Amino acid sequence: MDTIILKESSEDIAKAAELIKNGQIVGIPTETVYGLGADACNEAAVRAIFAAKGRPADNPLIVHLSDFSHAKRYTSYIPSLALQLAKKFCPGPLTMILPKNDKIPMITSGGLETVGIRVPSHKIMRRIIEESGCPIAAPSANTSGLPSPTCAAHVMADMNGKIAAVVDGGESRYGVESTVISFDSENVIRILRPGAVTREMLLEICDDVIIDPAILNELEEGAMAASPGMKYKHYSPKADVVMIEASAEDFTRYIAENDGDKVYSLIYDGDEKLFPYRHLTYGADSLEQAHMIFSRLRELDELGAKKVYVRAPSTEGVGLAVYNRLIRAAGFEVIRI
Ligand code: AMP
Ligand code: MG
Repeated sequence: MDTIILKESSEDIAKAAELIKNGQIVGIPTETVYGLGADACNEAAVRAIFAAKGRPADNPLIVHLSDFSHAKRYTSYIPSLALQLAKKFCPGPLTMILPKNDKIPMITSGGLETVGIRVPSHKIMRRIIEESGCPIAAPSANTSGLPSPTCAAHVMADMNGKIAAVVDGGESRYGVESTVISFDSENVIRILRPGAVTREMLLEICDDVIIDPAILNELEEGAMAASPGMKYKHYSPKADVVMIEASAEDFTRYIAENDGDKVYSLIYDGDEKLFPYRHLTYGADSLEQAHMIFSRLRELDELGAKKVYVRAPSTEGVGLAVYNRLIRAAGFEVIRI
């Protein structure tokens, strides 16, 4: 199949919506990363998403709607806390796990009785949802295991020939996937995957916000994951990634004493002043690091890096999301200095 590249024109958006309505898969920009979108209620289309990504069948897809009020069409119960959160964070990068109803096929929910609901803010994604009239199931538009795509070229690199089209909407604003939450009790939620809606922001509405242990720690062999995606090695380039939690000075000393120029390092903007070895930088603060992390991991592959040392990001605010992606890319290999 030839994968066509569409733009933002009304004509192209209508074409993308038509493809979705007809059970095809389209790469779509969102404010988090690019998604691989198809009609969430069309089992054959959803099966084709899993096949295109090589995604394990038990890793559920998030369902995207144009308005949170539509969530009642696809769920059996919506807690009042979800409505309060929706008022503040929808549209935006927040996914809420809710009990699903029969409209959502089991293949979409990875065999679970729940469904992740998100209302994206990106205008192209919103128009495609509205014009297709479909709830859109959309995982990140990468091959399973590789870094998520934050521009149309990344989607083409992984999906050319496997999907009908990609809509080019430029670079993703946030660069990391949505915050995924579940409801623990009346006023307490749990973050299953950190994103740009941070714990601090959620605490303004909830009594407590629990960070699921799987966000920062490797699951024990055979343990049940609250979010199935957390079990898999993820986001990783071909290179062997090691994360180092250290100041710029200690990081530099470690590389000097170990592999020097034999490796690549991924450091903060500004660190390069005292760092004489091969490197790329990935921003100066957490928001920039979120925006750049996945494209830097792809660039390191293009450079042919075999081993990459990454100076660990802060875990404050959206930094937790960057840290979570990197610790998975590193297969939990962390050196603390
Ligand atoms: P992606 O589709 O690549 O953005 O990944 C979606 C993430 O959301 C994965 O980590 C999933 O495990 C998680 N997720 C989606 N639906 C559910 C659900 N019903 N229950 C728990 N986690 C979910
Ligand atoms: Mg993904």
